[in-house]
Amino acid sequence: MTYGNQPHYAVAVRDLRARRRAEGQIQFLAHHDALTGLANRTSFNQRLEQDLKLAAATGGKLALLCLDLDRFKEVNDLFGHAAGDAMLVSVARAVTDVLDAGQVMARLGGDEFAILMPCEHAVAAGRLAERVLEALRCGNAGGNGPIIATSVGIALYPDDASERATLLSYADTALYRAKAEGRGTYRFFEAKMGAQVRERRLLEHDLRHAVARGEMHLVYQPQTDVRAGTVTGFEVLLRWQHPERGAISPAVFIPIAEESGIILQVGEWVLREACREAASWPVPLTVAVNVSAVQIHGPHFVPLVHELLFETGLAPGRLEIEITETALIRDPARAQSALRQLKALGVQIAMDDFGTGYSSLSNLRAFPFDKIKIDGSFIRAVDANEQTAAIVRSVLGLGRGLGLPVLAEGVETEAELRFLEAEKCEAVQGFLMGRPAAIGQFARHTHGPDAAEEHTILAA
Ligand code: C2E
Ligand code: MG
Ligand code: MG
Repeated sequence: MTYGNQPHYAVAVRDLRARRRAEGQIQFLAHHDALTGLANRTSFNQRLEQDLKLAAATGGKLALLCLDLDRFKEVNDLFGHAAGDAMLVSVARAVTDVLDAGQVMARLGGDEFAILMPCEHAVAAGRLAERVLEALRCGNAGGNGPIIATSVGIALYPDDASERATLLSYADTALYRAKAEGRGTYRFFEAKMGAQVRERRLLEHDLRHAVARGEMHLVYQPQTDVRAGTVTGFEVLLRWQHPERGAISPAVFIPIAEESGIILQVGEWVLREACREAASWPVPLTVAVNVSAVQIHGPHFVPLVHELLFETGLAPGRLEIEITETALIRDPARAQSALRQLKALGVQIAMDDFGTGYSSLSNLRAFPFDKIKIDGSFIRAVDANEQTAAIVRSVLGLGRGLGLPVLAEGVETEAELRFLEAEKCEAVQGFLMGRPAAIGQFARHTHGPDAAEEHTILAA
C-alpha cells in the first residue's frame, strides 16, 4: 500500500494459539473420557485392535482386565451423583498409579474400566489384579466416604481368544463370575464359563442352516371373534425341529437369531411362507406374523413386504404385522417411519404382548397400531384375580377410547373367556380356542366347511 507517498507492506499477524489449543482439546476429548481423563471406549478398542495385530505378528501375549465397581449404583443413589463421579475419578487415579509403562487403562462407560497389558504369563495379570484391588482397599482406609471396591475379570490372548470382541466378552464373563463369587476379587476366564457361550454359538451355527435344511416349519393359532364365535384369522408361530436336540422353543432361538442377524433371513422365510399359505385360502382370513425389531429397523423391510405381497398375491389388508413395544423403543423415529410405510401399503399392525414392556400411552398414540394384544400373563385367572381384572378392564377401556380393537392372548379356560366376553373384549386367542397346529387342521376355517369334509375324506 501507499502511505505518505511511499510504498509500504502491510503484515497481518493472527494468533492461532487459542484455536490450536481448542483443536487439541477436541482431539483429546474425542479419545478420552471427560470425567477421568482416561482413554475412552473408542480409543481403547483401537488400541486393543492394534496391540492384537502386533502380538499376532510377534508372537506376544496380552491380558485384558475388565473392572466394574461393586455396588456403584447404590453409591450414586445414596450419596448422589457428585459422590459417584468423585469415586470414578479416584478409582482412575488409584489404579493408574499402580500401572507400569505399557499398561493402559480406559473407562469403557459408566463404572466399567479396562486395562490392557502385555503379559508373558497369566501370573503377571493376576498380580496386577491384586495390586489394583489392594490400591483401592488402601484408598478406603481412613476415609469416611463410601467404600470403593471393584471386581476384576481377566481374559488372555491368545490362550482364551484371539479376536477383540471375544476377548472382551470373555473378560466380561470372568468379571461376572468374580462378582457372583463374592466381589472385591478377580477371576480368570475359564473354558467352562464359556460353555454357555459356546452352546449358544453352536445353536447359532445350526440356526444359520436351519431354513435351508428344512428344519423350520410354521404352526397356526386361530384368532376368534368373541361375539360371533368365528375364526377371523391366524397367528403364525415359528417352530424349529433340531435334528439332534428335537424341538427348540422360539423363546430360546429367536433371541439368538436376533442378536446374530439371522432373523433377517429366517424372518423373510416366515413372511413369504405365511403370505403364500394365506393367499391359497378360499376364505380371506387374516394372517398375523411376528416381526422383530431387527427386521423393522433394517432398511429393506418395507420393500420386502411389498414384494412378498406382490409375489404371493395376498391382499395387503389380510396381513397383520405383530410387533412388541420394546422393539420400537430403540429407534422410535425409524420404527415409526417403517410402520407408517407399512400402513400405507394397507398392512395391519398389532401391538404384541401389551402390558409387559413399557406400555406407554404415548407409544400407543405415536405408532399407527390397528390392534392391541394383551399379554397372556394378564389373562391367566383374570376371572378370579381382582387386580388383574382391573388391569384388563382398563386396557379394554383404553382400546375403546382409542378406537383400537383388543385381542386377549393365552385364554385357557371357559371362565377367562366368559369374563372377557362380559367385558366386551373383541377378540381372543389361546389354547381354549385352539392350540398352534399345522394349518391343515384348520381347513374348515380356511377352506369352508365343505372343503374340510373333502380334506378329511382325502386324508382318510
Ligand atoms: P407371542 O407372539 O406372544 O406368541 C404367543 C405365544 O403364546 C406362543 O408361544 C403361543 O404358543 C403361546 N400361547 C398361545 N396360546 C396360549 C395359551 O392359551 N396358554 C399359554 N400358556 N400359551 C399360549 P410360542 O409359539 O412359544 O412363541 C413365543 C414367542 O416367540 C412369540 O410370542 C413371539 O414373540 C416369538 N415368535 C414366534 N414365532 C416368531 C416368528 O416367526 N418371528 C419372530 N420374530 N418371533 C416369533
Ligand atoms: Mg405374537
Ligand atoms: Mg404375544
